[in-house]
Amino acid sequence: MSWILEYRDFVPGRERLREALCTLGNGYFATRGAAPEAAAGEFHYPGTYLAGGYDRLASEIAGRTIENEDLINLPNWLALALRIGDSPWFDLKAVEILEYRQALDLKGGILARTVRFRDAAGRRTRLEQRRLVHMGAPHLAALETTISAEDWSGPIELCSALDGRVENSGVARYRDLARRHLEPLDARRIAEDTVYLKMRTLQSRLEIALAARTRVSSESKRHYVQEADYAALNFNATLEKGETVRIEKVVALYSSRDRAISECGEAARAAAARAPDFAALAASHALAWTQLWQRFDIGIEDDSTQNRTALVLRLHLFHLLQSASPNSIDLDAGVPARGWHGEAYRGHIFWDELFIFPLLNLRLPEITRALLLYRYRRLGEARESARAAGYRGAMYPWQSGSSGREESQRVHLNPRSGRWIPDHTFLQRHVNAAIAHNVWQYFQVTRDLEFLAFYGAEMFLEIARFWASFATYNERLGRYEILGVVGPDEFHTADPDTGRPGLDNHAYTNVMASWVLCRAFDVLAALPEERRRELLDTLALGDEELARWEDVSRKLRVAFHGEGIISQFEGYEKLAELDWAGYREKYADIHRLDRILEAEGADVNRYKASKQADVLMLFYLFSAEELEELFKRLGYPFPKDSIPKNIAYYSARTSHGSTLSRVVDSWVLARSDRARSWRVFLEALQSDVADIQGGTTAEGIHLGAMAGTVDLLQRGYTGLVARGDTLWLNPRLPEELACLRMTIRYRGLALDLEMRQRALQVHARASNAAPIALGVVDAVHTLKAGETRRFAI
Ligand code: BGC
Repeated sequence: MSWILEYRDFVPGRERLREALCTLGNGYFATRGAAPEAAAGEFHYPGTYLAGGYDRLASEIAGRTIENEDLINLPNWLALALRIGDSPWFDLKAVEILEYRQALDLKGGILARTVRFRDAAGRRTRLEQRRLVHMGAPHLAALETTISAEDWSGPIELCSALDGRVENSGVARYRDLARRHLEPLDARRIAEDTVYLKMRTLQSRLEIALAARTRVSSESKRHYVQEADYAALNFNATLEKGETVRIEKVVALYSSRDRAISECGEAARAAAARAPDFAALAASHALAWTQLWQRFDIGIEDDSTQNRTALVLRLHLFHLLQSASPNSIDLDAGVPARGWHGEAYRGHIFWDELFIFPLLNLRLPEITRALLLYRYRRLGEARESARAAGYRGAMYPWQSGSSGREESQRVHLNPRSGRWIPDHTFLQRHVNAAIAHNVWQYFQVTRDLEFLAFYGAEMFLEIARFWASFATYNERLGRYEILGVVGPDEFHTADPDTGRPGLDNHAYTNVMASWVLCRAFDVLAALPEERRRELLDTLALGDEELARWEDVSRKLRVAFHGEGIISQFEGYEKLAELDWAGYREKYADIHRLDRILEAEGADVNRYKASKQADVLMLFYLFSAEELEELFKRLGYPFPKDSIPKNIAYYSARTSHGSTLSRVVDSWVLARSDRARSWRVFLEALQSDVADIQGGTTAEGIHLGAMAGTVDLLQRGYTGLVARGDTLWLNPRLPEELACLRMTIRYRGLALDLEMRQRALQVHARASNAAPIALGVVDAVHTLKAGETRRFAI
């Protein structure tokens, strides 16, 4: 049961949400779970997106020209319309539904739909569909349809199309922006049963070619329909009462960026001609999924909610793997905050990697490596951004797309007030610390020295260099400061009195900068001597500069207020307290307090109100011991009660306006208040399946929260930390969890872990990999391939 996400009813108002949740993808491209007969409109939004398939267009907004880079909605390959006799084309909303089932099978990666309906003429028909986006053959997708005439005989007509008459209109807030990105290049019938369509994005000149082969079990005649951006085959058949017709559509999709091809059109045409039938495709697709699940599945035994919890965790893993998979390894695409599942945030890459990579590191680190290379290829652009802003090193963008330049929007629409508002969130320089942290974490888990030496170290050192040049020395304080940034909490982006963008001495940013600067020395130390020399020479990194790094890392300012509260930023304590109870009473949903306040003519910048965990990120990323070390290095006290005090203080002042926030909240409570942590974890699990933000999931899933919730089990409750050359485990399962099973990979060894309330078992599978150091609670053991160890906790 816990492998199938099932819907038993058709609710037009929930279709867009289900389309996002039922998206099928393979890391190369993804297609929303829209009904094949549906066109874009109020209730439906068919969308197909290529990983990293972007295009930029200019729009006139609020008196200025702004440019946005969007993830492009590609031609709809799914399109399959049906008509019985001479009645109108089948529309679920216009028939009487007798039976309805939509099921997403996570194990085999199949989306199925069964609909029995009675049409206006009183005929009863059964429609069954199954579709896949192939995990093993990433250019292929297929749709199988069977139509049964239950109590009638007569003609039917089918229309199987490649529909390029699409635009980017999936997000209502963006509707004033330019949205037609594709121009037609070619539309043809290339075989008796196959049509072909090629289009190109207007600015990025990305060519997309699709070929669709449609076979019908009992057709009588067919004809071809074409427009410049549309190619379809129409089939006419006659059904006798009780008879069934089967339609199989197999589609190949290529782009001009693909490797190992001559031209994408030729590749798509050849692939469609060679592809096997649906049954064979489904079998090889299932095998690819089985192998992924062997690496990724997490087994839990918990209380009565078990089935649902396990299902949602699998749904999260499923969407993660559809967004970044072995098929992504050869691409130049990052991991998008909202999956390739919709148009929210335009398919951009944010710091959400920080929440996503830990899962990949411990299961298929080859994917993390590929995603880190997406950043490495954009190092030049990041250097240029730093230079243009007057700094040294590499300054990565807050929102990254094709080229690695800053893609953040500078004005955004508040749908509540209808006003376009300046957007300073691009000042989130902490994304640089996240990238450095990700490089280091990947290295800790894999010890992939070749990667570190060739790519990782250069990115890391250039980011360290940026922080050192970004920090300014304040003589009066005898401290370095970082001025004018925005933190993860996007409610605070400017001084409410002067309007000056950014905040000063933002605690999370400053501590992370200090961490990057001191870890830079560990990165250098980890390199083989000759590579270290080469890098120091190439980057012209000398002793004097390294001495400054050391100095900055020790003297960055962190402000405090009250009794040991880390001030989120300089002056935080002067902000007003928000009447949380009052706002909760007045508005049903206060996730987006910023929009509520702006619509009321107020400014969230004036309040002690955070959109999401910010200071608490420190407790998410670092253990108490690591933080103690960091604060000691900075010359600040970090008493034992600092963590619970700050958690209590900031948790009470957060609206959780980002789905990442509950993940962090649950994590930081995992040790001190397991019961509450579990409750928050269960809420975080609901983020997308229940669309708790009321509408955002329909525009794209929240991949950071999806991966983050699974990681709460993987690392949070297990105390799993890869540090130095030891893999540490210190499980503290929530009471509700009787047992947790998973397989992880660490430095070439596959480890089967089984944790119970008071026991831990670790089995290292057979391998040629070297033994590892396994730390359990506070003792370190050596574990060899083939060995099983049991520990009492
Ligand atoms: C959050 C960011 C996040 C972004 C993309 C925003 O709402 O505030 O932290 O990176 O969404 O997921």
